[in-house]
Amino acid sequence: MLGKTLEDYEKDMTRCARCSLCKWPPLAQVKSIRYSQVCPAISKYNFHSYSGGGKMIIGLSKLRGRVDYSEEMLNVIYRCSVCGACDISCKYSRDLEPLEILHTLRATCVKDGVAPLPAHRPILDSMRNYDNVWQQPRKKKGSWAKKLDVKNAKEQPVDTLYFAGCTYSLRPEMQGIARTTVEVLQSAGVDLGILGEEELCCGSPAYTIGDEELFVENARKNIKALNSLGVRRVVTSCAGCFGVLKTKYPLVEPANFEVVNVTELLAELVEQGRLSFSRPLDRTITYHDPCHLGRQSETYKPWHGVERKVLNHLVIQDPPKEFNRGTYGVYEAPRKVLAALPGLELTEMERIREFSFCCGSGGGAKSAFPEFALATARERVDEAESTGAEMLVTACPWCESNLSEGIADAGSRLKSASIIELVSYALGGGELS
Ligand code: SF4
Ligand code: SF4
Repeated sequence: MLGKTLEDYEKDMTRCARCSLCKWPPLAQVKSIRYSQVCPAISKYNFHSYSGGGKMIIGLSKLRGRVDYSEEMLNVIYRCSVCGACDISCKYSRDLEPLEILHTLRATCVKDGVAPLPAHRPILDSMRNYDNVWQQPRKKKGSWAKKLDVKNAKEQPVDTLYFAGCTYSLRPEMQGIARTTVEVLQSAGVDLGILGEEELCCGSPAYTIGDEELFVENARKNIKALNSLGVRRVVTSCAGCFGVLKTKYPLVEPANFEVVNVTELLAELVEQGRLSFSRPLDRTITYHDPCHLGRQSETYKPWHGVERKVLNHLVIQDPPKEFNRGTYGVYEAPRKVLAALPGLELTEMERIREFSFCCGSGGGAKSAFPEFALATARERVDEAESTGAEMLVTACPWCESNLSEGIADAGSRLKSASIIELVSYALGGGELS
């Protein structure tokens, strides 16, 4: 967690029982042997060090001076999509904090000057030099919205700010989704504005790679800029932006706006009858829960208390610690929206909600270890295919992009789409592939 050190987690790392339960979903959630793994790094490399528990051992060994940094150690630490699946599984066995620890391990590597990895440096340099991750000049950030009739939130007061994020703003194949998002929300009467070329990167890549200083610098700039707009809420359609704005920004500075994901806003609009769907989709789809929209979107709850040993071996927290178990991530809103679309049938995969299997793109994995990211996407595509669906739908540009690569690499018959494209189609706009 932001600002913590390995020393802060020494007790957790010592208590890791080496039980390996962080490699699988909790037993009650396992539906078949085929899809019974939950850690992408274990699925690919099948060696304990790659697991959440394995990274606890690395952290403890580092803290106690038993090991020195090596290239292989860094490869193990970074061959991980920081998906947090290990964290949820551990919460069903030992109530430890593997995700916070593996983040702190990365942050320690950055502070000690052995990370980021060479493949990560251009991303972080781009954030410093251009305020986006795609090494594009700042003025290009608003190019996606050039032909749209949408307010500039800096010039006119608006109720809701659409924070498009670097990928939807700058990747040509993704810009259409940002435009569609604005059109759909405006059609439902949302008083919407954007920041265009003045929108900065949310900072998520810096956080997940472990560069806390850069993340905090970005977060501070964004919170100041967004606070000054006086908007009631900020809506994001990138799960990465949503995750940090909602859960990490409050650790930096207070914000005077609410953060919602576009699926939550769409679900609200459907409930209020402000979106009327007329065109049937006539498709069977399956839905992939993005990690940062699901299990990693719970707000951090700091705990201040003491630990006591009872019966000479059980450790209890006094007062009881409220753990994040992924239960309250955004799972219902996307499913409510999908259920409202005419002619659409949702067929679920085995690993869903907080037990979802990652797409493989996050935590700098795609830039540093593309073969790992692709193998993870292939695994998820295989699971999606097993449902018999025609389409793999998600709500995050990183997931959509990596899963599309997985589909292409597998020669799969699946099509990929984002929820907003389905909504737009059902409203009568655009075509689906
Ligand atoms: S991190 Fe948790 S689930 Fe994994 S081996 Fe350690 S105690 Fe077991
Ligand atoms: S964060 Fe994901 S990839 Fe990394 S160790 Fe945990 S489950 Fe495996």
